[in-house]
Amino acid sequence: MAKFVCVCGTEIRTSGDIPNENEWKLFSDVEFDQYSGQVDVEKLYLAGTIAFRCPVSDHLWIYWDGFDKTPQLYEPIPGGEGGRQAP
Ligand SMILES: [Zn+2]
Repeated sequence: MAKFVCVCGTEIRTSGDIPNENEWKLFSDVEFDQYSGQVDVEKLYLAGTIAFRCPVSDHLWIYWDGFDKTPQLYEPIPGGEGGRQAP
């Protein structure tokens, strides 16, 4: 079973049982707009950008360049827009 360790120490599995409770699929509005009417869910499933959300720390690991490349890490900022000011 493939897995990685989040920056908080939590192991996140990337294979094994489906559905994976920590896996998300991302679509831009433009990508999603290419679909209409009846949609093949397998096609839609494969088209989404794969992401994993750590169940403990909420960090997001997004595979923007494909699942065979290194994911980009996103850190949650408590407080949203007011949580950290732009430099
Ligand atoms: Zn974590």
